[in-house]
Amino acid sequence: MSQDCIFCKIANGQIPSKKAYEDEEFFAFHDINPAAPVHLLLVPKRHVVSLQDIQEADAPWLGRMMALVPKLAKDNGCRPGPQGGFRVVANTGTDGGQEVAHLHIHIIGGPRPWQQRAAPAA
Ligand code: AMP
Ligand code: ZN
Repeated sequence: MSQDCIFCKIANGQIPSKKAYEDEEFFAFHDINPAAPVHLLLVPKRHVVSLQDIQEADAPWLGRMMALVPKLAKDNGCRPGPQGGFRVVANTGTDGGQEVAHLHIHIIGGPRPWQQRAAPAA
């Protein structure tokens, strides 16, 4: 827990959010400014700033986190199969466009059109 971190506070319930998933390690909630019909943020409960801090020893929990992505996408309205799908984004650092300094995965999907900021190459 980092004292001033908004996503730590969301993950431990100090700041309200629209929760999509929770287990011992992870918390997922709906983005407050969605870029598409489905826009979730998946975070580890432990405070990790970004992918720049990930090392080989983190592979097991990071793997568990990534394995949650298709389940969360499906459970929240992303269509399965090749015609459906979703976009996974992890903005990393200032040059990477990261605004909140707690590692998070954007899960973006649902029927198009999406906002242009979510679909630059689609
Ligand atoms: P990033 O630019 O990757 O750091 O994305 C941060 C995301 O967090 C943005 O898409 C924001 O809309 C979202 N966000 C910021 N504050 C909240 C909040 N209190 N509840 C839900 N989403 C938030
Ligand atoms: Zn944090």
